[in-house]
Amino acid sequence: MKGMESLHSGQCGLCSHFGEGHPSTPVLITIMKKKEAPLNMLDECGHPKHAGLHLKVSPISGCDGFAPAARAA
Ligand code: SF4
Repeated sequence: MKGMESLHSGQCGLCSHFGEGHPSTPVLITIMKKKEAPLNMLDECGHPKHAGLHLKVSPISGCDGFAPAARAA
């Protein structure tokens, strides 16, 4: 789909910490199912090392704290 980016393992959009505070939001579920996300999207990273900083990441960002989201299965 136009304006969408394909996601791969290791990227925020498929990480359990992406939008962790509201994991059942429809847009997050759609991202997990389709493994693609809107290019202009940002959400909070809930990783314990980042949460206090309120780090905002895009679905195509990534870091070594990646943990596959169960909802991606
Ligand atoms: S920054 Fe790291 S821990 Fe946070 S959502 Fe992205 S991959 Fe996951």
